[in-house]
Amino acid sequence: MKAFALEAEADAVGVARVRPEWIYAEHANSPGAALPNVIIVLVQMDHAELATAPDPPSVVEVMRQYNRGTRVARAVADSIREQGYMAVPHGGPVGGPLVMVPAAIAAGLGELGKHGSIINRRFGSSFRLAAVLTDMPLDADQPDTFGADDFCQNGQVCSRACPPDAIGDAKQTVRGVEKWYVNFDRCVPCFNQTYGCGICVAVCPWSRPEVGPKLLQKMLRRLP
Ligand code: SF4
Ligand code: SF4
Repeated sequence: MKAFALEAEADAVGVARVRPEWIYAEHANSPGAALPNVIIVLVQMDHAELATAPDPPSVVEVMRQYNRGTRVARAVADSIREQGYMAVPHGGPVGGPLVMVPAAIAAGLGELGKHGSIINRRFGSSFRLAAVLTDMPLDADQPDTFGADDFCQNGQVCSRACPPDAIGDAKQTVRGVEKWYVNFDRCVPCFNQTYGCGICVAVCPWSRPEVGPKLLQKMLRRLP
């Protein structure tokens, strides 16, 4: 199914076992919410377009890539159903009943960055996600820890660029888990006013094609 998804326009694909905490309580009866596996589809954004954030070219590119991710998810789900299993596709930005970011991290598509989005080792944060919930038996991937979290410890590019100062410089304990924290009471008004903002993911050095690969080499050298 990964090969199928990659041939059907995906740029990366991962698989995870669905955890109950990834399903929105109010969507527990939605189509696919009870299926045990999720295929996460990643589609890369054109960074030159993303770099215009929060201006319209970036917004258009976001929608273009959500459309592409949705096309892939629907094609993957159709193929799975043809093989006799259940499958429910969900395009972004809201993955139906599924919270997509933790699922994508579990599926090996990157680490959580200080800006609250995923940093992927190839695409930085310059990508969008879609998902397919399914009961097809699949091997789950492992999280990909390559040093992004460590890099964020001293990083301030996103927090300094965020207009409403929503990105915290230190991790916080959220529902019992210590993680990077974005104050969404500050972010959301700016996000809505600009039809998606995206400044933080645009300025993240991992997202820049000429910088990300060099950072990866540097961080991999530091790993034990
Ligand atoms: S801009 Fe820097 S601190 Fe912010 S998420 Fe990217 S690497 Fe981490
Ligand atoms: S989307 Fe915009 S407002 Fe929200 S955290 Fe990122 S830079 Fe800040």
